[in-house]
Amino acid sequence: MLHVIWDWNGTLVDDLPIVVECVNAALSEIGESPIDGDDYRNHFARPVHRFYESLLGRPISDGEWTTLDRTFHERYADSLDRVPLADGAAEALDAVDAFGWSQSILSMWWEEELTACVARRGLDDRMVLVQGNRNDGGGTKAAHLRRHLATLGVAASAAVLIGDSLDDEAAARELGARCVLYDGGSHHPDVLARTGVPVAVTLTEAVDLAASIGS
Ligand SMILES: [Mg+2]
Repeated sequence: MLHVIWDWNGTLVDDLPIVVECVNAALSEIGESPIDGDDYRNHFARPVHRFYESLLGRPISDGEWTTLDRTFHERYADSLDRVPLADGAAEALDAVDAFGWSQSILSMWWEEELTACVARRGLDDRMVLVQGNRNDGGGTKAAHLRRHLATLGVAASAAVLIGDSLDDEAAARELGARCVLYDGGSHHPDVLARTGVPVAVTLTEAVDLAASIGS
């Protein structure tokens, strides 16, 4: 039996346009010009301060990072009601249930806000665990995945992480879990494909790919 670990932003929710708006609000606070979705995809990286450094082509100061991170999260929290579930998300969760697998959510977004958002959409009942970021605004996902698997009591070899970013793939690889990438937001699909893991265009396809690599 498999366990599916869903990423949230850019995977179960289709928030790229709003994320770009929030990045632009943050950039404006430090006097920098706005970007578009293509710029975001060309530069997205974790830790997130590396994304801003790549975007701006220069190092950012500690003060700038604090302003960028705080502004982004404040603006994103104000935009929550406008963030839709991704196309096919409900069907994909149903498909996981139909396979008889368990599922959970692991996000780098703040845990309190994530948990409330998942509950508001009525998805919490079908998740055995919803885990977000408790203390680290800019880290990588691997440490969070380690904690997630330990809390679940699921072996990495029995887990498939479905996410939209290179950081999702890196976390799965580091822990020895399998991964399916979804072309949902953070990177261009050719960049995702270069990781060598299966890349899905829809979330239901992602579940089918999880079944094929998990059997
Ligand atoms: Mg994501």
